[in-house]
Amino acid sequence: MTQTIPGFQSDDPPLRIGHGYDLHRLEPVTPHGPGKPLVVGGVRISWEGPDPNDPPKGPVAHSDGDALLHALTDAILGAAALPDIGQLFPNDDPANTDRDSADILAEAVRLMRGAGWRFANVDLTVLLQTPKLGPHKPAIRERIGKLLDLPAARVNLKGKTGEHVGPVGEGRAIETHAVVLLIRER
Ligand code: MG
Repeated sequence: MTQTIPGFQSDDPPLRIGHGYDLHRLEPVTPHGPGKPLVVGGVRISWEGPDPNDPPKGPVAHSDGDALLHALTDAILGAAALPDIGQLFPNDDPANTDRDSADILAEAVRLMRGAGWRFANVDLTVLLQTPKLGPHKPAIRERIGKLLDLPAARVNLKGKTGEHVGPVGEGRAIETHAVVLLIRER
């Protein structure tokens, strides 16, 4: 039997999936270079390189460079068929300089809810050679859960290295992926 929701056409499924991706170059942090402090999923993380004498690295970005929140924002906007993060928050707009990515995410969530959707779950992947993400996972899941108003059990986070090859593996970039499932609320 086809389940219908009032005001919703039965051939239009009450679920939407969205995928988001982001990459930021990692460079030595100011004053050693153009990098900003490393923030992943709203949590500040100390960068640990192979040589302790090397200056810490962080993302080169117009905003605060939180690649995980950027991928998540794009996944939410994509699932709701809204304009993407670059259209809504252009990187040549001075209002977005050093902007807290949690603000950007909050605006995407507001638009998504306004369009009649709510979250089922989110699944996130971070590719970062160093530092190891494991110790930071609980804090990141809790922070993102708070930002989305979701229990941490519906916010999954996976960490991977770049196996010492390519931009991620050579410590020159952080890469992130996000998948979001939305449920039609009205
Ligand atoms: Mg970004």
